[in-house]
Amino acid sequence: MTKIYNFCAGPAMLPVEVMQKAQAEFLDWQSMGRSVMEISHRSKEYIALAEAAEQDLRELLNVPDNYKVLFAQGGGRGQFSAVPMNLRGRGDSGAFLLTGSWSEGALSEASKFLNTKVVGEVEVQEGLSTVPSITENQIDQKSAYFHYCANETVDGIEINDIPDCGDVPLVVDMSSNILSKPLDVSKFGVIYAGAQKNIGPSGLSVVIVRDDLLDYAMPETPTFLHYKTMANYDSMYNTPPTYSWYLAGLVFKWLKEQGGVASIAEKNAKKAALLYDCIDESCFYLNKVHPNFRSKMNVTFHLPNAELDAIFIRESEQAGLTALKGHRNVGGMRASIYNAMPLEGVIVLTQFMRDFARRYK
Ligand code: PMP
Repeated sequence: MTKIYNFCAGPAMLPVEVMQKAQAEFLDWQSMGRSVMEISHRSKEYIALAEAAEQDLRELLNVPDNYKVLFAQGGGRGQFSAVPMNLRGRGDSGAFLLTGSWSEGALSEASKFLNTKVVGEVEVQEGLSTVPSITENQIDQKSAYFHYCANETVDGIEINDIPDCGDVPLVVDMSSNILSKPLDVSKFGVIYAGAQKNIGPSGLSVVIVRDDLLDYAMPETPTFLHYKTMANYDSMYNTPPTYSWYLAGLVFKWLKEQGGVASIAEKNAKKAALLYDCIDESCFYLNKVHPNFRSKMNVTFHLPNAELDAIFIRESEQAGLTALKGHRNVGGMRASIYNAMPLEGVIVLTQFMRDFARRYK
């Protein structure tokens, strides 16, 4: 059988070692004669698992002690609502940087709860998408928070420099690039990420909140989304998605075994460089993002015409390279190469792409 490499943007592939471990202990976890998903979240065994997952995540991202790590439900979009509800008490407006589909989604949901102001937007210069840098004086210092998306999964745009918003809490959606590289958590008020790319199965999300921001929620905030309540109950106010949390814990252990985020960042840079070099050298494929903002997680590219798109998809699937079709809003192709994608998957993809370009040029 052809080996499959899965380039899906999300839910994305998980590390094979994690899947094998989960499979091996699926029916009998820790010799309990039961699956981990069949035991109480209040049992000492499960609480130990939950604490270890949090501890491993803290170590991986070097999370300072004055931040809470929450394991929430509702994925990335759940936080599109939870963030404005939880920070509404700080002010009646929020500032936003718009760089693509997901920052627009966050803005649209936030506008249900507070006034929103767009302080910067992606621009196309000479055919390439670029992101303006944001400085403190562009942001009303009374804003409840400033929000941006560090990696636009659909558009293939990644922001590497952390915006400077003065004393306004910085909130970031890192759903598609968390844990892909080292991060200075202390620069942020809230970091959130849906799990389905670099963490684990969809539905779960991780929220890292600075302690002083825990208690600004609007009174109508549903209790299970309330950061302070979540923190007080160690993310177990309601029954957590126990199996997803378990898998996230296995992914964190796997990442530590890989040498942590600094080491995975080197591998990610290498994978992305291979793919962008292949695109740039080809005179056939085209990436429309300025090199400073090219995503290392979601590499987008276009073929010379739409008829070739269908042929590319068909032939790539036959070659075991799956889920390369770009998002319907953007068209073209997208190769998502999160932490779990091995270097060899990218090598096989670039070999396929070179061969395809030679045949259809
Ligand atoms: N933000 C980003 C950057 C995403 O990529 C996604 C999902 N692809 C979301 C938010 C929404 O996540 P979910 O579907 O888990 O709610």
